Amino acid sequence: MSVLVVGSVAFDSVKTPFGQVEEVLGGSGTYFSTSASFFTDVKMVAVVGEDFPAEHLDFLRSRKIDLEGLKTAQGRTFRWKGRYDYDLNEAHTLETHLNVFETFQPELPPGYRDAEYVFLANIDPELQLEVLNQVRNPKLVACDTMNFWIGGKREALLKTLRHVDILLINEGETRQLAEEPNLVKAARAILAMGPKTLVVKRGEYGVIMFTEHSIFSAPAYPLESVFDPTGAGDTFAGGFMGYLVSTRNLAEGNMRQAIVFGSAMASFVVEDFSLGRMKKLEYAEIEERFRRFKLLTEFDGLA
Ligand code: AMP
Repeated sequence: MSVLVVGSVAFDSVKTPFGQVEEVLGGSGTYFSTSASFFTDVKMVAVVGEDFPAEHLDFLRSRKIDLEGLKTAQGRTFRWKGRYDYDLNEAHTLETHLNVFETFQPELPPGYRDAEYVFLANIDPELQLEVLNQVRNPKLVACDTMNFWIGGKREALLKTLRHVDILLINEGETRQLAEEPNLVKAARAILAMGPKTLVVKRGEYGVIMFTEHSIFSAPAYPLESVFDPTGAGDTFAGGFMGYLVSTRNLAEGNMRQAIVFGSAMASFVVEDFSLGRMKKLEYAEIEERFRRFKLLTEFDGLA
């Protein structure tokens, strides 16, 4: 089983209260793929510039990520610059340079067109739809986006959302997309836009999943040292989708387990800058954290 993903592959420059890094490996597609690769095979659609080093490609290959859909184009790789203050839940974007993504016209390799599971990671919603249109008969389509696109390409995003089964966005983006300050009402409004499931990421407060008939809430893992929240959302999505794809089971109970696997993955990535922690991560550590998550929320029912 595999998941097809389209998203950004980037050089990130990030400053947090605990340090700063310049032009390190990042991007929504990169974080998602790396995380999902612990659970299932990944096929990646993206573009990088001629300045993208072989070392990063080697890392992605070492995670067994299929790069047939990763194009190298003339020009510079996507760049993002962001800052976090002591409230690590909120990223302040300082610069976004789409570079080679500005003219990217994805063409899926033939082997990608039969993908059953598709993840549209955070990138231009027009590109997300272009990729989706080339997939013959997807079984499950999940999608992420951010304030940059909700504000800048709202109509295109709404069009993409009509084809999406699961939307994963953060709390502020939920309110912005729905144009509604109350989170529950906002979730209802978004479930009327196309997605049957909405997963709201709330940083250190965890995750809430909404469907028409249910609400499920999971905490974030209480960590003592958080260095860099960049990529937490994409890494969450990678664990969530990776687990769903590996089990091929979309029942509510399994979706809840997927939420906890996603949360476990996100709790690792924030422990270091860029993909530093993911490079050292072992599958046994993921299972161990999953168990700790269970203990964290276990309590007796009413007598
Ligand atoms: P998150 O998981 O939300 O922290 O996503 C962080 C990643 O998103 C960074 O590695 C950035 O390179 C990438 N990113 C930031 N802005 C954009 C954008 N407008 N389009 C695509 N990717 C982006």
